[in-house]
Formats: sequence, structure tokens, C-alpha cells
Amino acid sequence: MNKPLLIGPFTQLLPMTGLPLKGALKDEQLSIIENGGILVADGKIVKVGVFDELKSADVDIQLIDGKNVCLPGFVDSHTHICFGGTRARDYAYRNAGKTYLEIAKAGGGIWDTVTQTRKASQDELVKGIISRSQKHLKNGVTTIEVKSGYGLSVDEELKMLRAIKQANETSKVTLVPTCLAAHMKPKDWNQDQEYLNVIINELFPIIKTENLANRVDAFVEESAFSPEEIKPYFQKAKEMGFDITVHADQFTTGGSQVAVDFDAVSADHLEASTEKEIQLLAKSNTIATALPGASLGLGCAYTPARKILDVGGALSIASDHNPGSAPMGDLLTQASILGTFEKLSNTEVLSGITFRAAAALRLEDRGKLEAGALADFVVFPTDNYQEITYHQGQLKPSMVWKNGTPIQ
Ligand SMILES: [Zn+2]
Repeated sequence: MNKPLLIGPFTQLLPMTGLPLKGALKDEQLSIIENGGILVADGKIVKVGVFDELKSADVDIQLIDGKNVCLPGFVDSHTHICFGGTRARDYAYRNAGKTYLEIAKAGGGIWDTVTQTRKASQDELVKGIISRSQKHLKNGVTTIEVKSGYGLSVDEELKMLRAIKQANETSKVTLVPTCLAAHMKPKDWNQDQEYLNVIINELFPIIKTENLANRVDAFVEESAFSPEEIKPYFQKAKEMGFDITVHADQFTTGGSQVAVDFDAVSADHLEASTEKEIQLLAKSNTIATALPGASLGLGCAYTPARKILDVGGALSIASDHNPGSAPMGDLLTQASILGTFEKLSNTEVLSGITFRAAAALRLEDRGKLEAGALADFVVFPTDNYQEITYHQGQLKPSMVWKNGTPIQ
């Protein structure tokens, strides 16, 4: 049997433990282990502590040179990285002042990506997911949620979900699949409710049989599905044992109420949330997810992250990486920028992309460096953790470890 491996020393090790899931966080609350070490066996953390105190004859040692800061691998709890084509034309049109309607009339919008994704083979989708997830991994993201939602038929949604499963089998990153068949009303269907019924009756059972996802998402919005339309859909999904997550309050409110009513694991977007929705979420078990990449892509307001935290909400920060509204796909850059606009402490930003993001995916084995957790961690070449958000994503990780193995 191999001996446990002691990795370190790290100038600063931030385990992200001892912090509450909900509410505002001050940097004084952040625990920092100086000259820290991580003891790893079978891909999991055995112990975290001071490097010299973890040394013994019973461990192998992997020395880390130079000054460095180590934190849990980042978790991106909301992406759409399974897609075909590009929407560069939409982006140019939007910045040139064309309206949403004008862009749609010119053949743009989500439906454009649906058309391009339907044209792609499953293998082409797999390649796209792997290349995008590799980029996330280099930036320290070791777990990525990936949604379907550009298929919008039973067969095409299955193609996407199977591609995500196949990519997860070969990718070094953990991919967490979510069924977003209710992304928009498909243009090739006449009756909206009929489409959702077909998804419930035909797609959901196959997802269960093939174990393709245990999460169901919907876009609750005037341009997509109303709260009334989506309630029977979520009801059925919940009865079948799926976790619920909601695209909520992006342009108009209503989605966060649905999320809370269904005890959703997360309500994501929330750019249009008012005091009422913020209070509602803070009192619930539903995690509020800010998507600054969508605000940057669309040139819109940010999610009211400060208010959410101040009234006791739980805040995850995710990239929303997608071809239409959030093409950048750089979680750390976006989270750092959200911090400057919303006045978030470093601890709040880093919690939003580690353990609070893991909680938004109901994953308790990551996002923190503690005994029993996966040995997923990221190392930055600096002796002060404050440099990480200060460089707004331009300070790149020198190492990323996944399941106790260095992958770069
Ligand atoms: Zn999204």
C-alpha cells in the first residue's frame, strides 16, 4: 500500500473551513494556515495543518517550491458549455445598439444556438465541452456544472446530456449535468404545455434510466416560461427525485418565488430581484447565484450580491459560460470584478466560488480543504492571498490538483 502523500509547504493555505454557508463574511473570519501542508491518500484529504507538524516516517513528501497560496479547487455552479457554433454576430449587433427583437428577427438569440447545436454530432459536442473545460481547469476550476437546453426536443436534449456524460468520463474536471430542456419555448412546437409534457413523459424517464442528470432547471422569464407554466413541470420533476434549480429574475421577477416554493437548490441570475425577492431567498434554503459573466456580456446590472449577503442569503458566483450572453467563461476574473462593483470582501468572493458554490450543487465533498474532502486544490504563485482577486484573474494558478493528482 502506498504511503499517504504530504504536499507542501504552502506559504498560505486557505482551507475555507469554519465559515457559515449564509450571510456576510469579513476577511478577519478567514482562517489562514502559514507554511501549511495537505496529507492526501486515495485522492482524498486525510489531514490539513502545518507542514512540519504533518511530517513523519509514514508519509511520502511532495515539496512545493517558492512562495505560494493554496485554496480549494474552484467550483463553477452554472454553465452552458455544451453547444455548437458561435454568437459573435449577436454580440456585435447588441453592442451596435440593435434591440433584442431586431437580433431575433435577424436569426439570432438562443434559437440560433439551438439550430447550430442540433447540427453538431455528439462527438463534436464532446470535443467542445472538453476544450472549454480544459480552459476552466487551467484557471483553477475543478468542478463544472453543465446544462443541456440547446436541443429542445427529446432526441436533441438526449444528445447533449449523453455528450456531457461522455465528456465527464474522459475529462479531468468533474462535470455535473443539468437538464435544461425548459430553456425557451421551441419554435418548432405549437403548444407550449404540450412540449413540457413530452419532456416530462418521454425525456425524464430516459434521463433516470441512463443516469444522465439529477438536476432539472428552467428559464422562468417573460420571454421563456411563466411561473404558472413551469409549476406542473417542476412538480413532476420533484416527484421523480430531481433537484430543482431556476434561471430566475434575470429581466423580470417571478422566478425566485418559484425557486423558493419548490425548495430549489439554487436560484440563478437575480439581476432584477428587488428587496422582496432578496428577503425571500435569504429566508429560504435556496442558494442565490450571481452570474457576473452575463452582466459583462450583456452590459447589464450585476446581481445585488451585497444586499443578498447583508440580509443573510447564501451567495454562489458562477460564470454562466455560454455562447450568447456570457462568452468569456473566466470565473475568477468575473468573481473579482463582481467584488469591485458589489463591494464584496475577499472571503465572500472566494467562498462564492468554493464551498458556497459546491453547496449550490449539493456537493459536500469539495469546496473546502478538510479531512474526507476530495484532494482538489489550486495553487497561486504569490505569498499573499489578496493578490488573487487584486489581479482580477490575471494571476494564473501555478498548479491545479484534482483527486490528489497534479494535472498541470
Ligand atoms: Zn444560464
